[in-house]
Amino acid sequence: MKVSVFNSFVDLLPNYTEWLGQRLETEKGSHIITLNAEMAMLARKNELLAQTLKNADLIVPDGAGIVFYLRLFGYQQQRCPGIELAESILQRVGESEKPYSIYFYGATKEVVTKASQKWSQQFPSLKITVYDGYISSEEEQDLLKNLERDQPSLIFIGLGVPRQEFWIEKYRHLCPKALWMGIGGSFDIWSGTKIRAPEFFRNNHLEWLYRLYKEPYRWYRMLVLPQFFFASLIYRLSNKS
Ligand code: UDP
Repeated sequence: MKVSVFNSFVDLLPNYTEWLGQRLETEKGSHIITLNAEMAMLARKNELLAQTLKNADLIVPDGAGIVFYLRLFGYQQQRCPGIELAESILQRVGESEKPYSIYFYGATKEVVTKASQKWSQQFPSLKITVYDGYISSEEEQDLLKNLERDQPSLIFIGLGVPRQEFWIEKYRHLCPKALWMGIGGSFDIWSGTKIRAPEFFRNNHLEWLYRLYKEPYRWYRMLVLPQFFFASLIYRLSNKS
């Protein structure tokens, strides 16, 4: 079921990994976007992002803000953090007999290499090609050529929001059977460079608070959270009937 969130929407499903697994097996290429409050607010003023969200095949409710919004409108949905969804699909392909080809693009060279090593050690059948997120435009051309040649099944892009979503929108035609997903800072976590908020913060919708404590320079990005909160309430009141 699709539910609108301002001018975007999310797909409410009982099991997102299952959906991804089926798309992978039937080779139905997809762009998966994990929507949080920051992205939903940005899409209200950024037409290109709004259009990219419309063109995506699956929008996952990532983040406490989206869950709050859904509750206001009477939907009880668990959040599905993008990093966990990416991990569950990697695990699924890693455990299968088939040798899957995967691309990781984003973060620094050291980070993305360490992230791929972590997954290859856990699942030696995975063939992971890495490109860091600071490559030159010539190297980017090389990446595009190799994507087209290799036709990987999974393509994870960690360039930050909304750059990663725009990049996928622009190039997804090169690998029409692949699952494409923007994963923000997940390579940083998988490489061990950063750690995720402890369980207490995650379970109490306070991941943002932990992030603010660890990365205080991001405070200005968090200003959007109270804005999202009030906009949600106003939207709910004006859409009462
Ligand atoms: N990044 C990148 N190239 C750039 C800018 C950023 O690869 O030119 C990477 C950065 O190293 C980090 C990720 O993009 O790994 C962004 O992480 P963040 O947690 O900020 O993601 P967001 O919150 O924007 O989804």
